[in-house]
Amino acid sequence: MTMPLMKPRKKNPVLRTRQMNLPPFARGRTALGMTAAAAEGRFELQVCQRCAAVQYPPRDACHRCLSAQLRWTAQDGAGELISETVLHHSNDPFYRERLPWRLGLVRLDAGPTVIVHLHGDVLSPPPSIAGAAPAPTVRVHVGARLDRAGAAVLIGFAPEESEHMADDKMLREMTSDPKFRKILVTDGKTEVGQALVKALVKAGADIVWVGHAEPWKKLPGLDDITALPQVTLVPLDLTNGRSVSELAGEIGGKVDIVVNNAEVHRAFGIAARRGTDAAKAEMDINYFGLLRLAQEFGPALKGRSADGETHAAAWVNVLSVYALSNYPPHGTFSASKAAAYSLAQCLRAEMRPSGIRVINIFPGPIEDEWNQNLPPPKVAPTALATSIVKALKQGIEDVYPGDVAQEWVERWRENPKVLERELASGS
Ligand SMILES: [Zn+2]
Repeated sequence: MTMPLMKPRKKNPVLRTRQMNLPPFARGRTALGMTAAAAEGRFELQVCQRCAAVQYPPRDACHRCLSAQLRWTAQDGAGELISETVLHHSNDPFYRERLPWRLGLVRLDAGPTVIVHLHGDVLSPPPSIAGAAPAPTVRVHVGARLDRAGAAVLIGFAPEESEHMADDKMLREMTSDPKFRKILVTDGKTEVGQALVKALVKAGADIVWVGHAEPWKKLPGLDDITALPQVTLVPLDLTNGRSVSELAGEIGGKVDIVVNNAEVHRAFGIAARRGTDAAKAEMDINYFGLLRLAQEFGPALKGRSADGETHAAAWVNVLSVYALSNYPPHGTFSASKAAAYSLAQCLRAEMRPSGIRVINIFPGPIEDEWNQNLPPPKVAPTALATSIVKALKQGIEDVYPGDVAQEWVERWRENPKVLERELASGS
């Protein structure tokens, strides 16, 4: 059974902050298919379309019939642990700092045998004794996660969940669990922001700083969240470089997770409104706001990614599924989110070497005032908040919450041009 994680003691400021060493991350192009699925929380292996063989490790052709028709297919991960190894020595700096480390060999029910990192709840396979009755098998459930370098790895879990399983030392290296972490949520005035704060507190966050651009205004719902002992309101205006820089000076060295949910959303295309004021306001928060925030908070986060058990871990961007393809009735908003998405990819590349995970959330229309005229289904703020906490806990990188976003991303993958035409004709 996993022991619950205890709140770490305050850091001794005299001690040197450790540098992050990443696990080895070189992967061939074919193997990146597994990483792409793990980034969305799925365990996928190649399945041959001709002979139905399930393949591991990934290759360019089927190991049985040499067909090149391989399709990445979701796996249920059920299997049997056939052997276990505990590393007590490693030449790799990442593992050397984390020894001992359990690895296992799992024979999947689907066919292939895979190498996994073993969760602490998985029992060791009993030794087989010659002449004795065969030892009972140890069942495991294999899942895919992204490691600190952003590459897919397989993890063997016990089939039954246990209360503190998320606190497993190895698993916490693969996730960005909010428990005992200090989090900045950039906007607390919206329903989404408030739902997020509540969900993060419920997930065990140590401190949640909540940005508020107009601290003199009494806004509905704010009293509810400030009543929580973990929550502190902080002045933060993402349109103002000095405001961002001042807050970074004050708390930048303590933040472990940044959640940027601040956005401006107006429902206009190009012809419906003259001038550029509304579009500029959207860009100023949705794009430049992210840029200002990343420049001020990014370096501090990167410097503390190896700093103890509750080290700096993640950066979350609330984008929009309209970032993938422009939704003309919300045309300028879509454009600002497309710009933010592109910048978030840059941020992800820059944060990767330090082991900080950048998580992008692409919700469909949210149940808020700017989507009043859109028909359902819409994502409720609480559902959006839940999906963000789940992404942090499971180490997922790209999230498409809600039915609309799920459908959009599928249509976009199938054929972006067809989606563009469908959106232009209002379907
Ligand atoms: Zn085959």
